[in-house]
Amino acid sequence: MNTYFSEEQLALKERVAKFAAEVLAPEVGRIDKEGFDMEHYRKVMASGLVAVAVPKADGGEGMGTVGRCIVLEEMSKVDPSTALSFLVGGMGMYATSASDELKEKYYYPWVRGEILPAFALTEPGAGSDVSSVKTTAVKDGDEYVLNGVKTLIVNGKSADVLNVYAITDTTVKTSKGMSVFAVPTDLPGISVRVQDMMTLRGSEVAEITFTDCRVPAANLVGELGKGFAYAMGGIAGGRINAAACSIGIADSAVADAVRYANTRVQFGKPISANQAIAHQIAKMECKLESARALLYKAADMIDHGDKDAGVFASIAKREATDAAQYCADNNLMIHGGIGCTTECIAERIYRDAHAARIYDGTSDILDLIVARYMLG
Ligand SMILES: Cc1cc2nc3c(=O)[nH]c(=O)nc-3n(C[C@H](O)[C@H](O)[C@H](O)COP(=O)(O)OP(=O)(O)OC[C@H]3O[C@@H](n4cnc5c(N)ncnc54)[C@H](O)[C@@H]3O)c2cc1C
Repeated sequence: MNTYFSEEQLALKERVAKFAAEVLAPEVGRIDKEGFDMEHYRKVMASGLVAVAVPKADGGEGMGTVGRCIVLEEMSKVDPSTALSFLVGGMGMYATSASDELKEKYYYPWVRGEILPAFALTEPGAGSDVSSVKTTAVKDGDEYVLNGVKTLIVNGKSADVLNVYAITDTTVKTSKGMSVFAVPTDLPGISVRVQDMMTLRGSEVAEITFTDCRVPAANLVGELGKGFAYAMGGIAGGRINAAACSIGIADSAVADAVRYANTRVQFGKPISANQAIAHQIAKMECKLESARALLYKAADMIDHGDKDAGVFASIAKREATDAAQYCADNNLMIHGGIGCTTECIAERIYRDAHAARIYDGTSDILDLIVARYMLG
């Protein structure tokens, strides 16, 4: 019996697991070494999985946050880099806030898997402190002129459209003076430098510089001056995604540990026959399953519009990212010396477990959120 999922959700889980085994598994080692491969990623876009969580009215399958978490967990069990490319983009706000014109141009094509988006908020001087964003968008006739630098942007080079957060009114606080623009990447005035990552190397992370980049005024997404609120909503919404990816990573670490401990023989018996190793695996499984329960509880709360869903998503991300780190670290230890080489997947899982503690709110920032909720 499975108490988490309906029949429809279980069928989705099976569908994504099959896709991950057939399409992602053969390429995960290569893209970890060589980096993001757009031709490979087009298979993810063509899979229809983007549409799983999108409302039926917008051409999606309407399976909500729980559906998206299932997709991300199953993808991350096999290839967390590809799951990261899949989860970012900042397109969620289009459903409720974008103009019909922008929806036709970018939102529906994204749902159909025709375009790749990126979410461009972070800057060299503005990470956790989003109010420090310095990129400007100055109105000039029917256009806005963008100047500034964004960093750590996933899909930053290959994206068709960037959702760029920029200051449109320097005379007020950022919370009232920031707006968001849909910026097609073929516009003049955009230069991109791909960043060499130690984690999630198969995703494409880039620094993007805007130099007098002229964007049509019609590409303002949502209302002028509401960018800060949209950014905060996007980051908060992203936390459950990061939690789902971490559960996938933790799951793969536990499976890898079990496999290795049962096959590695020392002192004439598998190392799993030693109580120390067996108990270590038991602790990993306990951490994984408690964090997984929290993930799907928080996802279900989001789908039911629970008023505390945001905080529970933060708690779920905190626990899931900790579980991923714990399981990945112990899996590496169980692998002994071979774990320190690139001849096994334990080291890749260990590197990939690190990043989700940073994006969509670092663990420190999540502690602040949870503490504020508890203490008022
Ligand atoms: C793999 C990856 C993908 C990413 N993808 C994107 C993307 O697609 N688009 C995008 O816009 N950004 C993206 N980012 C950027 C990410 O959102 C930022 O890295 C994150 O917000 C943290 O900002 P920072 O790196 O500047 O760290 P900082 O904010 O400088 O934090 C540095 C350290 O100080 C701690 N700290 C900061 N403030 C406080 C505080 N008030 N109290 C206690 N501790 C504090 C942090 O927890 C952290 O440990 C990505 C990052 C990574 C690693």
